[in-house]
Amino acid sequence: MSKENKKSRWKWPLGVMATGIAGAAVVILRGCWHGKMSWPIRVQEHSYQVCLGCGIKRLFDEQDFRAFGPYSYDLNRLMAWKRMQHEKALRETAASEQRPAS
Ligand SMILES: [Zn+2]
Repeated sequence: MSKENKKSRWKWPLGVMATGIAGAAVVILRGCWHGKMSWPIRVQEHSYQVCLGCGIKRLFDEQDFRAFGPYSYDLNRLMAWKRMQHEKALRETAASEQRPAS
């Protein structure tokens, strides 16, 4: 696993040089561009993908089969973000139910 990571990390810098300063800055800071995400990993009720280049994580929706939300190296932060979205949705539903139906 870690051997694979090292190999793909070295392939990145050449390709990214052409994509501009912003891209290069990301590569210098993070060593990658998140072009290669792992297959979804399931932890309890959450699914997420891990970048094979730098290890950044992103939540994954198994129903829609797509990634969503922000990128973060801290899975706890992603889970907190998801919880926040969920609570926001609940609040919005509650608010619309309080409105008189017309
Ligand atoms: Zn990455």
